[in-house]
Amino acid sequence: MRARYQYRIYPTQRQTQKLAQLFGCCRVVWNDALTRVKSTPSGEKWPSNSELQKQVITQAKKTPERHWLSDVSSVPLQQSVRDLGVAFSNVISRWEPTSQTCSECGYKWGKIDLSIRSVVCLNCGTEHDRDENAAKNIEKVGAGHTHDSKWIKNGHKTRVSGNPIALSNQPSVKQLSLFD
Ligand SMILES: [Zn+2]
Repeated sequence: MRARYQYRIYPTQRQTQKLAQLFGCCRVVWNDALTRVKSTPSGEKWPSNSELQKQVITQAKKTPERHWLSDVSSVPLQQSVRDLGVAFSNVISRWEPTSQTCSECGYKWGKIDLSIRSVVCLNCGTEHDRDENAAKNIEKVGAGHTHDSKWIKNGHKTRVSGNPIALSNQPSVKQLSLFD
């Protein structure tokens, strides 16, 4: 039989204060980064991870409004920005239109008229029932990495091509924050 131990940390008041300060800073950086991404004009590329870090950490520290960011380690702050990036790429793959992509090979055939009930994939030749194909795709998104790795192996990116996603249609972006 394996013994189990439970640990609990009791931070001192000073440590509690430090932690609260750090979490507060991470939250601010996360929110600032989110604001930057959201204010990107449609049709323009989102700022890269390193660009975001530069804006909401390095440059922000030099401003009177955010100078207190210098009081905490920048490693967790940078991690916050990276987490935001991960949150976005999850959202993006979730929003991938399920009826426009082959559930077999990931090939994107684009919008098809609602009256068309079945599709033959131009890439792999599989014939799909429209709804069945969409359901399979949804299942794959639920399975997480599986569908990504499968599709990438076939040379098809599941990531957005062309136009960036309209953020206004994605209320769940907010729910991804750990700090709210
Ligand atoms: Zn296919």
